[in-house]
Amino acid sequence: MNSVFEEAVIRQQFEQRGINLKLISLIWKYLAVHENVEAYEVPGLSKAACDVLRTNFKSTTSTVKATVKSADQSTTKLLIQLQNGSFVETVIMSYDSRLGTYAGRQRPGGPRATLCVSSQVGCKMGCTFCATGSMGFKSNLSAGEIVEQLVHASRLLQIRNVVFMGMGEPLNNYNSVVEAIRSMTGQCFQIAPRHITISTVGVIPRINSLKYDLPNVNLAVSLHAPLQEVRCQIMPAARAYPLRKLMDTLRSYQEHCKRKIFIEYIMLDGINDQEDQAHQLGTLLEEREVVVNLIPFNPIGSISKFSSSTKENIELFQKVLRNVYNIRTTVRQEMGQDISGACGQLLVKFSGENSINMEYGRQSEGIPDIEDLSL
Ligand code: SAH
Ligand code: SF4
Repeated sequence: MNSVFEEAVIRQQFEQRGINLKLISLIWKYLAVHENVEAYEVPGLSKAACDVLRTNFKSTTSTVKATVKSADQSTTKLLIQLQNGSFVETVIMSYDSRLGTYAGRQRPGGPRATLCVSSQVGCKMGCTFCATGSMGFKSNLSAGEIVEQLVHASRLLQIRNVVFMGMGEPLNNYNSVVEAIRSMTGQCFQIAPRHITISTVGVIPRINSLKYDLPNVNLAVSLHAPLQEVRCQIMPAARAYPLRKLMDTLRSYQEHCKRKIFIEYIMLDGINDQEDQAHQLGTLLEEREVVVNLIPFNPIGSISKFSSSTKENIELFQKVLRNVYNIRTTVRQEMGQDISGACGQLLVKFSGENSINMEYGRQSEGIPDIEDLSL
């Protein structure tokens, strides 16, 4: 069965039968708030639409198997089972400036929530600090399965931002990610493209396509090192996508899109966090329109030998980038630590058919509303 949120499929089937395509948005809107309803039960459908929905479509193909909320209520983690039996995780980070501050800072604009979605089960890029990378690649999510993460989350909270920072490398599942984003920004969910961020390890050919396909969506690049050599040590994909070529690609991306790029930089003790490396990074980025987000490393158990940089090193690194190179630099804050609400950190293991044994990093972090940095 297809998901009703598999837009290309439902459009094609409706078109074939001469069914009004506007019904798709009506169906989606209804299902985004009503759980346990099949698509053909949505009120106001024609008989032809009901028939095709009953025989070919499920309202959702994925199921929420567990929901965990942090004690401070800021982070909700959904464990989602896909139709093929695999599990992925979706994390909702919410805050309300009217209720006080978030991460010590006053936030403008009232309640809002950011959803961190997964695009793949596992990942083939093999970054040495990443739990998902240690799983290897298992499968790609379909566009519908990506959109369904938003559907499940929307039933709990109104989502304002979507970040592709969960499991997987979104640009290795390009077509589904682009299609899912088109659905998310459409009539039903109306997420603004500038409130969507794709995070990538730097898949050069796909960044080149993205600037034409989705020019208004934010791009975050996991740079993690200012030199090719160090980058290769911690990220095997850097060999295929060398730093210099990546920087050239980002330049032409920016010439086309006229948007600032978010640079993610994981802080690994003694590997990429030294003062001279802050200067190298500053030199690399000083002429560019970027915001650097320093990410304290989340330990991932025995999989990785790294440890996080000290608070002092992170502060010094930030100071160098800010004061010497005038680069906007933030440090990623932690949210929902008690439930391991980490994005991109997760490793789901199964032992036995019914027992789910999840291993996460000891510590975890959420992603602050990254789009707010661009406002
Ligand atoms: N594949 C994409 C998006 C998913 S990972 C990418 O790599 O950009 C989302 C972010 O989490 C990336 O910046 C990634 O480098 C970071 N990350 C991975 N493992 C981490 C860890 N153990 N601690 C902190 N950040 C981590
Ligand atoms: Fe894949 Fe991103 Fe993890 Fe690297 S950091 S292994 S690209 S999910």
